[in-house]
Amino acid sequence: MTHIIDGNAIAAKKREEIAQEIAENNLAPTLHIILANNLDASAIYVRRKIKACEEVGITPHLHKFDETCDQNEIIDLVETLNNDARAHGIFMQLPAFDHIDDNVVVQSINPDKDVDGLTHINMGRLVASNKNGLVACTPQGVMEILAYEKTDLSGKHAVIVGRSLLFGKPMGQLLLQANCTVTQCHSHTHDLPSITKQADILIVAVGQPEMIKADWVKNGATVIDVGISKNNDCQICGDVDFGNVKNIARAITPVPGGVGPMTVANLLSNTVKAAQKTT
Ligand code: NDP
Repeated sequence: MTHIIDGNAIAAKKREEIAQEIAENNLAPTLHIILANNLDASAIYVRRKIKACEEVGITPHLHKFDETCDQNEIIDLVETLNNDARAHGIFMQLPAFDHIDDNVVVQSINPDKDVDGLTHINMGRLVASNKNGLVACTPQGVMEILAYEKTDLSGKHAVIVGRSLLFGKPMGQLLLQANCTVTQCHSHTHDLPSITKQADILIVAVGQPEMIKADWVKNGATVIDVGISKNNDCQICGDVDFGNVKNIARAITPVPGGVGPMTVANLLSNTVKAAQKTT
């Protein structure tokens, strides 16, 4: 019988642990959120992140820019926060307005405050298995789901569909460190179904609603769906055809309620790590 992984429950337990760590160590972490777009989805994500901060004892600060803003204004803010010992975590809700170069802003963040783990320094630390870095929140969350579910990783074939800097690339590194044999697929991959069907662990982050069909999945695979889209009925769904794949997989994450809550929980834990590093 397929196990539906409850990401909300795993994340709730992690948030409790974070709140306890903050209280026991008398920490006063702060998280600075930069919002430079007018997207409804970003506004929703930011509200969720602010609420989650408040629940565990992190003080959130929202810096909202309108479309007349200049890239240098945002970088000036980042530099001020980089030099402010009371500012622990900094991240920009992506994407920013078209006239802002996301990467230039992200790379201006002090790596020890880069709670999204996207600076080149933190990416390099991850590749070098250096534990001093801050790791991107979603792939870290996926590793925690796999650990919570006691998924056997060593020597297993993990197939990741997607190779973004935000998710796919760090995910590949974390699975390699866990001794998986990793195959990374992308939009140029030939015969994708024949590769996904070999996966013991299939992780999908593409952004195409329900593209992974039941006959693309090996019997008994663990399937982790990172995608968030809307289907033809305007309902939130993932990249996996959940209704049919759940009959094939050993365990599967739903959307919503799978990976998403872990992303937020790891933003909180990275903020606590940043507070411990910079105070
Ligand atoms: P990107 O658009 O940056 O990357 C998408 C990746 O999918 C690319 O590597 C692209 O390949 C690949 N791809 C696109 N089409 C295909 C295809 N037909 N076959 C195989 N690969 C394909 O997206 P992100 O990684 O940022 O996000 C992916 C999804 O995950 C989105 O739905 C996003 O909303 C969601 N997401 C969810 C999070 C959560 O907390 N649950 C957090 C982050 C993202 P190529 O490199 O060749 O272009």
